[in-house]
Amino acid sequence: MSAFQIKEVPEEYDVVIVGSGAGGGMSAKVLTEAGAKVLMLEAGPHFDSSKGDMFKWNYSSPRRGAGTKERAFGEFDAAFGGWELEGEPYTRTKGTEFDWFRSRMLGGRTNHWGRISLRFGPNDFKRKSIDGLGDDWPISYDDIKPYYDKVDDLVGVFGSKEGIYNEPDGNFLPAPKPRGYELLVKKACDEIKIPVIPSRLSILTQPHNGRAACHYCSQCNRGCSTHSNFSSPSVLIGPALATGNLTILNGAMAREVTTDKEGKATGVSYVNKADGLDYHVKAKIVILAASACESGRLMMNSKSTVHENGLSNSSGVLGRYITDSTGASRSAIIPALLDGIPHNEDGVGGMHVYTPWWLDNKKLDFARGYHIEIWGGRHMPGYGYMWGVENSNKHLKSPDGTARPSGGGYGAQLKQDARTLYGATVGFSGRGESIARYDNYCEIDPNVVDKWGIPVLRFNYTWSDHEIKQVKHMQDTFEEILTNMGGIFTGAKPGPESNYGIAAPGRIIHEVGATRMGNDPKSSVVNAYCQAHEAKNVFVCDGGPFVSQADKNPTWTILALSWRTCDYIIDQMKQQNL
Ligand SMILES: Cc1cc2nc3c(=O)[nH]c(=O)nc-3n(C[C@H](O)[C@H](O)[C@H](O)COP(=O)(O)OP(=O)(O)OC[C@H]3O[C@@H](n4cnc5c(N)ncnc54)[C@H](O)[C@@H]3O)c2cc1C
Ligand code: SF4
Repeated sequence: MSAFQIKEVPEEYDVVIVGSGAGGGMSAKVLTEAGAKVLMLEAGPHFDSSKGDMFKWNYSSPRRGAGTKERAFGEFDAAFGGWELEGEPYTRTKGTEFDWFRSRMLGGRTNHWGRISLRFGPNDFKRKSIDGLGDDWPISYDDIKPYYDKVDDLVGVFGSKEGIYNEPDGNFLPAPKPRGYELLVKKACDEIKIPVIPSRLSILTQPHNGRAACHYCSQCNRGCSTHSNFSSPSVLIGPALATGNLTILNGAMAREVTTDKEGKATGVSYVNKADGLDYHVKAKIVILAASACESGRLMMNSKSTVHENGLSNSSGVLGRYITDSTGASRSAIIPALLDGIPHNEDGVGGMHVYTPWWLDNKKLDFARGYHIEIWGGRHMPGYGYMWGVENSNKHLKSPDGTARPSGGGYGAQLKQDARTLYGATVGFSGRGESIARYDNYCEIDPNVVDKWGIPVLRFNYTWSDHEIKQVKHMQDTFEEILTNMGGIFTGAKPGPESNYGIAAPGRIIHEVGATRMGNDPKSSVVNAYCQAHEAKNVFVCDGGPFVSQADKNPTWTILALSWRTCDYIIDQMKQQNL
């Protein structure tokens, strides 16, 4: 792109933030409240969950709420995005897998996410010291704990004090009571000594900081019109705008970070999707919060005479050590739940109980652990509910002991079958820690660009034996619990032929790494404050700096780290170091 084609934005900002999800939203809130003039570049359109699709019935849609490529989780879902985006491809090296989920909208994936809000524990920051694999973080739990506390207090998260060492308790709101099927799971797990405790979700069970309590409609994935769950626009961007210091530019696709002769950032160039033209905006500080791999991509595409290999990448580590959680699932029909009495089982849009990692790896043949997400219940049916009545029905017997019609019947029979089966399926999903490896990485594909001519990412990712064995353990555990519940399995247990049903990398949508933190610039991209080693006014506020994954979902740690980074920026600005 030659310079004369780029339009210069007249204003210069203290900070430009790329992305408005968990990390971008937190950065905007903390910095604007400290008085900084901030411009937020967001590739997607504006989104306000109070005007979303929360109250629509699936049957009101001709497609009965079924997903599309652009709304992967259903027609009314609050994720404008999916594993494929029109005009924004990515590629994979042959023989490797990676599916990359992206949302393009104000608030990014926080509009839809599951709100499972777990802190990493003390061990999660020093795994190499414990098992010799991967790396330790340059920070400890004690460094981040004050920020987890602040995030809890600001956002609101329910849970229960359990005193489990590596599952630190937070400042919790009261947890909702377990639903009927969750009590059955707990009973079965108690018998085989698997813990089941109240889940920890950022959903308000009582009014909090001016936001209303949840009214238990169970539709969190559609956004929340009362802002009772966490999304970046509901909790972070609103207050940032109220300071008068935040300007948001929707439809602005960042292309690269520009730098001066010393290698310091001078601003960001971006494509305005509305007119297709390139612009450049000047800023004293640049925060990349475009999501882990996208921030990595932006840095790789920011080449200059000082940053020949991409921004802050003389180590060649940029793009390396990406991880996604391991994932596998299993479900069964539970006889005790068949022909359930109609009742209101609504609650928050997510599980009320879950299983944190409970075993000692010294006695196991794989590293690290997983938690179990528990699902089931009497949800609003949509397209494909219960995988089709006929698929479940054929596993049941009629009251006279004969096999039920495998076609699912029709008319009165079909209605009766649906009533019998409704809410009778219980399932488990394991979400585990994979080990960050140098040879799991993303890089710029030299042959492919997106519709704006921006070079795209090529992924190289494979699972190791640790992850496969971990998922085998998940499957054994799920089978044990479901068998203990008397479950009728509707499918075979995944075995070695399918690597025990392990989801493709990227499918669990917990990708982190790519711009990892460390004290040594030779083996990391940013320092312990998420500041680029080789461009001190560039910071990464998303999952990119994670050194390892933990057996937890990542977003609470993204929020806490981003807040910590912004406090550091404020401090460094006061000292005139930036
Ligand atoms: C279905 C689903 C369920 C999930 N459940 C959980 C859960 O229960 N718990 C949990 O901890 N995590 C969960 N996650 C993951 C969670 O959503 C992410 O960890 C979190 O949103 C990441 O925040 P982020 O700020 O890094 O990125 P995002 O939220 O993805 O935001 C990035 C933003 O940057 C914008 N952007 C990207 N590239 C550019 C560019 N070049 N220029 C300008 N803007 C750009 C995007 O449009 C987007 O708005 C889930 C995700 C999904 C999709
Ligand atoms: S379940 Fe609660 S938090 Fe979720 S969308 Fe409904 S009211 Fe909002």
